[in-house]
Amino acid sequence: MNISRRDFVKVAGAATAVGLVGAPHLALGASQKVVIVGGGTAGATAAKYIKMADSSIDVTLIEPNPEYVTCYLSNEVIGGDRAYDTLRVSYDGLKARGINVVQDSASGIDPDKKVVKTAGGAEFGYDRCIVAPGVEILYDKVEGYSEAASTKLPHAWKAGEQTQILRKQLEDMEDGGVVIISAPANPFRCPPGPYERASQIAHYLKAHKPKSKVLILDAKQAFSKQGLFTKGWERLYGYGTDNALIEWLPGPDNAVVTVDADGMKVETGFGDEIEGAVINIIPPQRAGEIAQIAGLADESGWCPVEAKTFESKLHKGIHVIGDACIAFAMPKSGYAANSQAKVAAAAVVAMLKGEEPGTPSYVNTCYSIVGTDYGISVAGVYKLTEDGTAIADVEGAGGVTPADAPDWALAREVQYAYSWYENIVRDSFG
Ligand SMILES: Cc1cc2nc3c(=O)[nH]c(=O)nc-3n(C[C@H](O)[C@H](O)[C@H](O)COP(=O)(O)OP(=O)(O)OC[C@H]3O[C@@H](n4cnc5c(N)ncnc54)[C@H](O)[C@@H]3O)c2cc1C
Repeated sequence: MNISRRDFVKVAGAATAVGLVGAPHLALGASQKVVIVGGGTAGATAAKYIKMADSSIDVTLIEPNPEYVTCYLSNEVIGGDRAYDTLRVSYDGLKARGINVVQDSASGIDPDKKVVKTAGGAEFGYDRCIVAPGVEILYDKVEGYSEAASTKLPHAWKAGEQTQILRKQLEDMEDGGVVIISAPANPFRCPPGPYERASQIAHYLKAHKPKSKVLILDAKQAFSKQGLFTKGWERLYGYGTDNALIEWLPGPDNAVVTVDADGMKVETGFGDEIEGAVINIIPPQRAGEIAQIAGLADESGWCPVEAKTFESKLHKGIHVIGDACIAFAMPKSGYAANSQAKVAAAAVVAMLKGEEPGTPSYVNTCYSIVGTDYGISVAGVYKLTEDGTAIADVEGAGGVTPADAPDWALAREVQYAYSWYENIVRDSFG
């Protein structure tokens, strides 16, 4: 910016005044600051795409973990077909793009002063903030369950050590035991996830512990891709027969309400006590804790946002993306998180320039691997509704694997799933 000394004093004076309301960078032409809380799929993608759209924007990504471990394909690790290390993703790609990756945890956000505070004592001022903390596991919604109990009864709903615990327990269990999976009510992270997990565990039991079985105790009466899953279970795991490797008991009364970690037992809403050789508790969830602390979540526990920009309805200047937000018709998935991040990134860049954000479109596909050469998927394409207040399905677009898909097509879905994994990791973190 070319300005005389006199003008500079005027602008600087204005900047100080504006600074009180939090927009000093606009006035001085200095680089504008975006602070992103959470370096998961959503946060990483937003950081990368903002930097790609405008390299002059100063992008800081705050994330406590030194590396990301993907939940996607973690069920294959639990089933034993995939090495844990293949889920690990480095932040080096984002750092090489000039993104300031800070290994710390956000402890508070002041929306008036536009400052993010961290557990490590640092403060980061921002012009726009993006919050993408994923989910918080609500341990206390299941009586007897706690973070401490999750080392014995893993949830494995955040990939990492929990994934490894569940895998090890399956390896150590004797043949003839019951593996209990408790599935939560909607909404929760990855709607097909518990059923892909049941499939992957049955796949392992079939080969190594064929006298054992998986019992899904569900809080719901129906689940994502149910017809396709049950067809796969019938073909691969004897579903519906006396020798079935998978049994599914629908909610609400079959939901697990109490656990006894020492006794390795659960109690359902019916009052039935069931012993498990391995017990996988997937509790209800809500938006990550920082979203609650920062007042970004409503009474549902999730964060209401504007459909066009993902700007919070509760605090202007802060956008919430990924699993933490209420994304209308979109599910809580990694692909949805990536898609929302791109929409939010474009909106943030436009809003920093004082421009009107464009009209977005959104996309999601979720693959589930049911067994060897047996994959299924659901795809959705979404648009902003005409009044701009919601995200709705584009009718006629998307869909699920056809019920009569031939074997070659089911096998190809598995290859698509692997290819999708490579692409999403590179697109989000590369
Ligand atoms: C078993 C399983 C299988 C799945 N399979 C698929 C699949 O096949 N396809 C698919 O699309 N999706 C899948 N998902 C869902 C997918 O993993 C999530 O939807 C996706 O990770 C959401 O991205 P996110 O960025 O919102 O949250 P996350 O990826 O969880 O990232 C949140 C990040 O925020 C960080 N964070 C939290 N609090 C703070 C704080 N206070 N300060 C700083 N950082 C913070 C966390 O450390 C974390 O890194 C699966 C999930 C599970 C559990």
